[in-house]
Amino acid sequence: MGVTAEGRHPITGNTAAIPHFLQGERIVDGPARSLPVFDPALGRQTGSVPMASKEAVAETVAQARSAQPAWAAMSLGRRAEVFFKFRTLLGQRADELALAITQEHGKVLSDAKGEISRGLENVDFACGLSHLLKGAKSIEVASHIDVEEYRLPIGVAVGISPFNFPVMVPLWMICSALACGNAFILKPSEKDPSASVLLAELFSEAGLPPGVLSVLHGDASTVNHLIDHPDVAAVSSVGSTPVARQIYRRAGERGKRVQALGGAKNHMVVLPDADFEAAADAAVAAGFGSAGERCMAISVVVAVGAAADPLVDLIRAKMANLRIGPGTDPQSQMGPLITAEHRDRVAAYVGIGAGEGATVVVDGRDVPFSGAGFFLGASLLDQVNPRMEVYQDEIFGPVLAVVRCATYGEALAVVNGNRYGNGAAIFTRDGSAARRFCREADAGMVGVNVAIPVPIGTYSFGGWKDSLFGDGHMYGPQGINFFTRSKVVTSRWPEGDDKGPGMNLNFPTN
Ligand code: NAD
Repeated sequence: MGVTAEGRHPITGNTAAIPHFLQGERIVDGPARSLPVFDPALGRQTGSVPMASKEAVAETVAQARSAQPAWAAMSLGRRAEVFFKFRTLLGQRADELALAITQEHGKVLSDAKGEISRGLENVDFACGLSHLLKGAKSIEVASHIDVEEYRLPIGVAVGISPFNFPVMVPLWMICSALACGNAFILKPSEKDPSASVLLAELFSEAGLPPGVLSVLHGDASTVNHLIDHPDVAAVSSVGSTPVARQIYRRAGERGKRVQALGGAKNHMVVLPDADFEAAADAAVAAGFGSAGERCMAISVVVAVGAAADPLVDLIRAKMANLRIGPGTDPQSQMGPLITAEHRDRVAAYVGIGAGEGATVVVDGRDVPFSGAGFFLGASLLDQVNPRMEVYQDEIFGPVLAVVRCATYGEALAVVNGNRYGNGAAIFTRDGSAARRFCREADAGMVGVNVAIPVPIGTYSFGGWKDSLFGDGHMYGPQGINFFTRSKVVTSRWPEGDDKGPGMNLNFPTN
């Protein structure tokens, strides 16, 4: 497939062709179908990414399949060593990786570095793989009979990742999959594919054998070929809800193990006794950080009773100081959106909200920007109600909605009535209200005076309802479960004059 040197795009000739990473090497595809990759701050194409064909998928799966047994047979200590070395390299190359993120995603450099440091938690966790893969053993469950459970790799697994975390989400999957002794094929987002190539290269430098981790670029058809391949045992994916649902269904129909994380609409309930200053800071940071393109972004503030007026005033005042600009400018707090189409779609929601009767407190469409970048100002919509499209849809951009409720009970009903259930937060000084919310909110991750409650790497990440299809969360202990299969062995080693049960046709009892 293709040639092994980096080169110019075969059609445009003037943009960099982004390579796959296969068998430990960057591989530039030959005359493959490709899509443009943009620098969102400049608003122009900077690269092109190949779309792997069915044949390329078959070749990559074959390489993964042949590399996996030796990786699984490598001693746990040597496998862990790869993660320790990778951890060092990731630290040394963090600036380069952050720049690769910013140039294709648009998020500000400090945020890109934050994403890398959260991904590092998954590497730290994988460094302890000798502990994580401990099985269990019970001795003398019956006379001279022992039972033990092994945690074994599943073989070849694939990962499908979204554009919004081009390093952290791949690391969620890669670290768990490789730690467990699997081979892994990542199909990164076609919108910002370069960072994942660098990640795979660092794993290779850290001593990962060729073929154990591949990066294969593509679109929906590549994903379908990967899911359909009979030698692929498991599919781990993160993306929008319609795509998650499709992947879950397709993989499930083919008998594959699958976890498919979907979209979100995260609520932040603010009770009248909350610290409004802190709540407003959190709402602005969690609503507009990464231009609202986070699966754990706050998109709805649910203001209870007397909280509403002061909170809206504070949020509006704080939004006036937001610095929006290129992610490479250290002054910028918020960068552009991922594409021109997405920017226009998000902007249209402000008009939709106004048409539905919401009050446009701050209109991001009014913010002037020079140049061709995909910038949009931040918007605040008040008096939103749960029947509105602007409330129901995942906008995935810098548009924050405020829903006003009279009581905690009403606020909880709003949170639980939403079809998504990724994260939910409550801001209050009342410990018992917070404690109730933790129990009663229908969401997989809950924050108390914390707007973005992404669990640390020793826990697992996942939502409820339309935010996750499948029954396992990502990374942490549940990631290890997902990427291993268990085998339980029952053995009898008679001692002394134990002659065993003899020819007893009854079902064995203990
Ligand atoms: P997306 O659904 O458009 O794409 C995600 C991945 O799926 C990409 O690799 C893409 O190439 C692939 N894909 C697209 N269409 C497909 C299809 N029909 N069949 C198979 N694969 C397909 O998502 P995106 O725009 O890249 O990312 C943003 C979305 O991801 C948001 O909805 C966000 O909430 C969600 N997200 C969720 C989480 C979570 O943890 N729940 C985390 C990050 C992002």
